[in-house]
Formats: sequence, C-alpha cells, structure tokens
Amino acid sequence: MYKIGILFRNREFEHDVYELIRAFYPETELTSCYEELPEGQDLTFTVDRIADDFQIAYDQAEGNKGVISVSVVGGAESTDAAASGTQTEITRDIRKQNKDALKYGLYQLLVKLSGKTLPWGNLTGIRPAKLAMGMLEAGMKNSDIAQEMRDNYCVSREKAALAITIANREREILKEIDYEHGYSLYIGIPFCPSICLYCSFSSYPLKVWEKKVDDYVDALIHEVQAVAPMMKHRKLDTIYFGGGTPTTLSPAQMDRLLRAVGENFGFEGVKEFTVEAGRPDSITREKLEVLKRYPVTRISVNPQTMNQVTLDIIGRRHTVEETKNAFVLARELGFDNINMDLIVGLPGEDRSMVENTLKEVRALMPDSLTVHSLAVKRAARLNIFRDRYQEMTFENNQEIMDMTMKAAYEMEMGPYYLYRQKNMKGNFENVGYAKVDKAGIYNILIMEEKQPIIALGAGGSSKLVFEGGQRIERVENVKDVTNYIERIDEMIERKRAAISAWL
Ligand code: SF4
Repeated sequence: MYKIGILFRNREFEHDVYELIRAFYPETELTSCYEELPEGQDLTFTVDRIADDFQIAYDQAEGNKGVISVSVVGGAESTDAAASGTQTEITRDIRKQNKDALKYGLYQLLVKLSGKTLPWGNLTGIRPAKLAMGMLEAGMKNSDIAQEMRDNYCVSREKAALAITIANREREILKEIDYEHGYSLYIGIPFCPSICLYCSFSSYPLKVWEKKVDDYVDALIHEVQAVAPMMKHRKLDTIYFGGGTPTTLSPAQMDRLLRAVGENFGFEGVKEFTVEAGRPDSITREKLEVLKRYPVTRISVNPQTMNQVTLDIIGRRHTVEETKNAFVLARELGFDNINMDLIVGLPGEDRSMVENTLKEVRALMPDSLTVHSLAVKRAARLNIFRDRYQEMTFENNQEIMDMTMKAAYEMEMGPYYLYRQKNMKGNFENVGYAKVDKAGIYNILIMEEKQPIIALGAGGSSKLVFEGGQRIERVENVKDVTNYIERIDEMIERKRAAISAWL
C-alpha cells in the first residue's frame, strides 16, 4: 500500500491539511507525526510556519521534492480571552483567511502531485450549500458566488451550480419559518432489526436488546417530560424521529412515546413531523396506523438498493419485495410524503445495478429521494472486516451520480439539501431531492445550522445555535443504551445547564 507521512511542525491547521491530503489519497496509509517522519514512506509532507509564511515541503520516493509557501495574514494569534466580541470576530476572520489560503496552496500542490482534481475542490469540513447560503445572505449574485466557489475553492462548475441551486431553494423554504425563534426536536431510537455492514451509528440489534426496549422508552419519556419545560420560551418547528430505526418499537411502545411527546412538547404549530420508518422489515400496518393517529407528516421507507444480492451482502436482512410492500402499504394508509434513501457505491454494485434500483424506485414514485455516496467510517463492520471485502468493487463515479440526479428530475424532484461526509467513495456528496412542497425542512435546518436542535435519546447530540447563528454549542447524551437508562438524570441536567446558559 502507498504510504504517506505528514510531519506537523506547526499544528495550526492540522485537521484541514490531513483531510485534504486524505481526500486526494483515499486508499493510502496516511500517518501524522510531530517529531520525525517514519521510514519507508512513498511521499512525505512537512508542514511548518516560518515567520509570515506557512511552508509545505514534499518529498517523493522517486526523488521529486520541493516546497510551497503561503503568506499568513497577521493578527490571528491575538486570541486574548478578554477580547471584545468584535475582536473575536476579526480573529475568526483572519484565521479563516489563513486557512483558506493554506488549503488553496496545498490543493494546487496535490493536483500537481496526484495528477487529479476533486469535484468539490478544497472544500473539506465546509458545507458547500452553507457556504453558498452565506454568500447569498451577504447579497452576492448567483454568478458571483459561482465564480468565488470556482476561483477560491477550486469547486467544479457543476458542483458549484448544484450548491447554489440548493442554497436558493433552502432560502425559499426557510422564508416561511421564523426559525430564529424556534427549535427542532430530534428523538433517537437506537435499535435496528439487524446491523448493516456499512453502519457507523451506535445501533443495537433488536433481538439482543428486546428486553431493554421498554426501559429505554421509559427513560426517553422521562427525558421528554423534563426537557419540554426548558424549551417553553421557543416555538417547536419540526420533529424528527430517527435512529437506528424508530419503527423497531412495538405499536404500544410507539404510541406511549408519541403520546408523551404530544402531551409535553405539543404538536400545535409544528410544520413537519418526520418518522424515519427506515428499514422495511420493521414496518407493519399496525405501526403505521399508530403513526397516523398522530400528526406525522413525513416518513421514510429506505431501500438503499433494490438489488437483492446487495441487500444480502450488506446485511439488511430484508427483501426487495418487503420494501415495495411497505411503501405501498404506507401509501394505502394515506402517507403523502414518503422519502426513500439510496446508497451508491455499495459493494459489488455497478452502473447497471444502480440503474435497476432507480427503475424500481421510479415505479413507486416517492415524494423525495436522498442519494448517499457510500462513506465507510472507521467503526463500520465494512471497515473493520475490510479484508473480507477486498475482492469486491466499490464503484461510484460522476456518471452514476448524474444518473441518480436524472432519475430524480424524472420523478419531478429537484435538489434541496446537500452534505458531505468524510471517507466518501469518489469524494462526492449526499443529495436530498424532493418534489415541490415535499422537502424535509428538518434536514435543511440541521444542515444550515439555523436553529437549535434538541436531541433526546441515547447518542443524541443537541446543537444549541445562538447569537444569530454565529455560535454553536453541543450537548451530548451518552451513546450506550444501558448507560443512557442509568444516567438519564445526568443527561437531563447537562441539557438544563446548557439551555439556560445559551438559549
Ligand atoms: S438501518 Fe441504519 S442505523 Fe440501522 S443498522 Fe442499518 S445503517 Fe445502521
């Protein structure tokens, strides 16, 4: 395996430098070090800051070596704790300028060394649509934003157009909502019928944990009852039940939980209420009927792929037929906003298999479609047992991404949200497409970080957005289910302290 070593003599932008090099060389052994480079590397980088310059020296085994230099804007060091708000903002701006300049320089170097470009240019750790949205809000024209994304961030013409289209649509949707005075509620159910090969969430197989589910629902309801009064000063805009798979709860457990949410937070004025039914093998008529008794406006029935052979490989343990039946059943019961999630780049899937999935999905005509590029995170079984899957191809390319977009357009959907993750195959993106009026508002709010999201349940990560969206603080619940149940009062107190301090 190709080996790359990075020696950080200056660690100011360590994460950004690492991520950009990783994006160019996804399949390499990449080592960071701080004192000395390890032996036997095929390519090394040394990142240093000398006076007013960042310097990145590179050295390839075949003898190609050199150094690039990026000028630093002065003043970013003045992180005086007593600095005024304005000073803090200036410091933040200067830091951003330096980071952008360093990433720009490094990107040019990596293009030269690797002989390739990346569709999203040097955008790592930045949400493309949020970047475009910021420029729109600053009064820039679409054409100027596109120019800026291409020139300063090296984003391809097509991806810049996608980000700007999405930012404009998001802006239109958000116009209807007084999001600055509102908040959204996330409720997590961390159980799944089986654990998918690529899963990196803290998800628990239902069979093993069945006896704990009632205790979990009790703890969750306790959290619902305690947290709702803390948020009385704000308006609840959207609710999202995710996981895991919320529909692993029995109809009675689901009913109990939904009733508690309604009694404590209230459903009045809620613009959107999503329940990610997710796994088709967890959906039954009885459960959907429970959801129908509450003002649930949007559900997901997620195929990921419509190829049985792939479903078997990725451990979803349900059939294509079950997906279709669950979808038809949900329609029959009156759900008029159904999302479907797909993943491209799954093991062994080529273009024709994705084509087949899209054909099957088109026949069902969902209201929205979320297309994910496979991202294999460290904790996923697909990564842990990667030797087993060495022989398999993981194909994703622009042609496949374009095919999914075309299919979405054919279903009268347009893109409305976008996000990128680390370790995505081909450095692509996840895109949500939706018909007019069927976009998932919660997805936009969380991506654009426009308002607080209060997350309840094991692994829930609340995001407290304040100072007009300029500051974000997180409050985490423990991930482990047993721990969550045992330490529920501590989770509640964490929230109480953070909410009273920041919101
Ligand atoms: S359904 Fe989702 S959360 Fe559950 S195991 Fe699969 S990927 Fe993980």
